[in-house]
Amino acid sequence: MSATDRAGATLTIDLDAIARNYATLCDRATPARVAGVVKANGYGLGADRVASRLWKAGCRDFFVALPEEGIRLRRHFRRYPPAGPDGGAEAPRIHVLCPMIRGIEADLVAHDLIPVLNNPAELALWAAATARHGRLPAALHLDTGMTRLGFIESELDMLSEKPELAGALDIRFVMTHLACADLPEHPLNEEQRRLFSAMRDRLPAPLRALPASFANSSGIFLGPAFHGEMVRPGVALYGVNPTPSRPNPMAQVVQLQGKIVQVHEIDRGRTVGYGAAHPVTRKARIATVPVGYADGYLRALGGQGHCAVNGVRVPIVGRISMDLTTLDVSALPEAATPIGTPVELIGPTVSLDELAGNAGTIGYEILTGLGRRYHRVYR
Ligand code: PLP
Repeated sequence: MSATDRAGATLTIDLDAIARNYATLCDRATPARVAGVVKANGYGLGADRVASRLWKAGCRDFFVALPEEGIRLRRHFRRYPPAGPDGGAEAPRIHVLCPMIRGIEADLVAHDLIPVLNNPAELALWAAATARHGRLPAALHLDTGMTRLGFIESELDMLSEKPELAGALDIRFVMTHLACADLPEHPLNEEQRRLFSAMRDRLPAPLRALPASFANSSGIFLGPAFHGEMVRPGVALYGVNPTPSRPNPMAQVVQLQGKIVQVHEIDRGRTVGYGAAHPVTRKARIATVPVGYADGYLRALGGQGHCAVNGVRVPIVGRISMDLTTLDVSALPEAATPIGTPVELIGPTVSLDELAGNAGTIGYEILTGLGRRYHRVYR
């Protein structure tokens, strides 16, 4: 079966667009180093493929959420050693954001992973691992207002009281994570910056002087005061607008294309889909596309928003089913919508950001929810 015979949809991932987005972020963040956040399987797009392309673009620091994601990525890099401008001499640094669970330490060491230490218990666990594995690398996370992960102010004293813990480790940088960077005017941005600076000042001298890592994608666009020495963009690499109130400076990465598998002309008085949610008020042509909520095409899109046929927007009518979506294509000539006609679900006419808005969610959720049934094409 060739790609053109498929009834199912094709998800096209433009790796060069990811590389262009990386370059855009480097321009914005310079002189800060730009890492690549590839957790949740590269925001659903394939962590291995994305990380290899980012490496080629000059990225040397990668962030994942879970140890198993880091192990997978390290195995990938070992299987396909990256050839970069430095001939692959510098190994990719893979950082693990979520707290480690006791027992995983040896795996982190074996796969050369760098844990981000989020609390005193984790610091103690990793420091204890040095007895078996020698001096180990780490990063230190300070909570400045996200209230999710990271040392809080009252936990800083233990770093001075037990200097042997941090002293046993090769702590490479100190980081924090912004809660409202996509809202440039939000006062919490400035508050987090101020608190980060105050908390760093309270660290023991060797830690105080370490490089800082501050911004996610939208944080980069808050300006140099939010950069530190390393920034950690994720979603902007994948084409999502980091600051929704402004025009999107990122290149689109994802296209999702389905095909019409049935078209029926129906009379006024009929309804479309489950719950008879869409009553037809005039003769209409309803086209069916085999993509549904099992593919991450969210049920909330039912009756909301559009797809596009040959660049013409056509409304989604009725509820989204598990495997199927229905469109009213009456605005197009019949000859323009035969079976097999390509339908754009995400692309130049209907952007990922528009789709997310219509579903009442964010691009992150659309990307990471993309289903497994798509024929994936990387270019
Ligand atoms: N840094 C941390 C700690 C994160 O949790 C995330 C993502 O949630 C990122 C960076 C990347 O954020 P974004 O995708 O908004 O750029």
